Amino acid sequence: MEDEKKQRGKGHRLLLMPSPLQGHITPLLHLAHILFSRGFSITIVHTLFNAPDPTSYPHFSFHTIPDGLSQTEASTLDAVHLTDLINIRCAHPLKEWLASQLLNSPEPVPCFISDAALHFTQLVCDELKLPRLVLRTGGASSFLVFASFPLLREKGYLPLQESRLEEPVVDLPPLKVKDLPTFRSQDPESFYKLVCRMVQECKGSSGVIWNTFEELESSALRKLRQDFSIPIYPIGPFHKHLLTGAASSASLLTPDKSCMSWLDKQECKSVVYVSFGSIAAISEAEVLEIAWGLANSKQPFLWVIRPGLIRGSEWLEPLPNGFLENLGGRGYIVKWSPQEQVLRHPAVGAFWTHNGWNSTLESICEGVPMICMPCFADQKVNAKYASSLWKVGVQLQNKLERGDVEKAIKKLMVGDEANQIRENALNLKEKAIACLKEDGSSYCFLDSLVSDILSVESSASRAR
Ligand code: UDP
Repeated sequence: MEDEKKQRGKGHRLLLMPSPLQGHITPLLHLAHILFSRGFSITIVHTLFNAPDPTSYPHFSFHTIPDGLSQTEASTLDAVHLTDLINIRCAHPLKEWLASQLLNSPEPVPCFISDAALHFTQLVCDELKLPRLVLRTGGASSFLVFASFPLLREKGYLPLQESRLEEPVVDLPPLKVKDLPTFRSQDPESFYKLVCRMVQECKGSSGVIWNTFEELESSALRKLRQDFSIPIYPIGPFHKHLLTGAASSASLLTPDKSCMSWLDKQECKSVVYVSFGSIAAISEAEVLEIAWGLANSKQPFLWVIRPGLIRGSEWLEPLPNGFLENLGGRGYIVKWSPQEQVLRHPAVGAFWTHNGWNSTLESICEGVPMICMPCFADQKVNAKYASSLWKVGVQLQNKLERGDVEKAIKKLMVGDEANQIRENALNLKEKAIACLKEDGSSYCFLDSLVSDILSVESSASRAR
């Protein structure tokens, strides 16, 4: 019975398209893996920019869409502008390729699955009468905020005004105005427009798949089910469906695994792991506050400084001379880490994160308490939920200062409040594991996703 279930997708090919950003590519490849494990054949269609490495996935087919990006355009410095360009330039080549797939694929193609940010794919699929499923790589709670953007603008919460930052957003507790998503793009309106288009085209799709789980975001999921008349599939945490190790192969950068042997030498739950994801950038002044805050906390730390993290610097130049050497081995810096492995390591006691959704979920899955320092977009909502609702972290407030950093680390590592936060984190971790077990919520939603894909197939091919 179980084996039969695992092979239900056999004889069908799924076509999936990621948005070319690390935080989007990883969950899409994980989803592809999950569906592959249910018997589906998989083709990943992707832009030339930030193409995934096909050698890591010998069991998938890959197809490159010419994205028409110039050398300067092919950059994640302004991710909103990049996404806008892809939404315009990939429409024609994707339509041509999809049409040929529908004609020539030896296996039936029941639907197309694309990242929510690639909203252009809805029109392409409509024209070809191909059902489109959406993968939303962020959380459901932040999506609910995105879906409320027109209302938030109508009520004057958006664009943000300095004088209202501390006001509660009455329609979206526990958020305050300062927690609402923003993004500094070259065109100040482009983030708002992209979000509204993304939401609108999700509503027009055949269903939205979420890398979250019911027990974590039940209230947002309930509201989305009320407001959207399409199926909602919370089947996460994706990476926990998979065997250990499958995740790291989705990495665009090579992880420096030397940090694992450094972690082996540290005491249990003593290390602060610091990483701000693949896109966020910080100023030289902020780097110094982080560096001195970490040094003064007296805790060991593992810090990911990717080239490009510090605005205007190649890599570590802004750090004081001899900074690491003077700490006598208490600090370790890498350009990119095997993050999931790091968070699983028993020496890690806290994660200082920008609260990208993947990082937030990875931390929850390992029961690691967070120091939340959101930078932009949905990160601010995730940080608020982690600190105020799930109570698995503390949020750094206002301007980044070394004294506050030191206090936040202490609050998370020692004392009664630290013990309470750790207990909350372990409770949430248990829920993240339980939802994937047979009859758990994500397990059941995955079953209905597979059934719906197979039933949509028969009606779609009739329509074509
Ligand atoms: N990541 C990693 N090594 C690092 C830093 C990040 O493997 O040194 C991975 C992390 O595990 C996560 C992804 O990169 O899966 C970052 O996604 P997230 O949504 O957290 O943030 P984004 O990069 O999109 O801002």
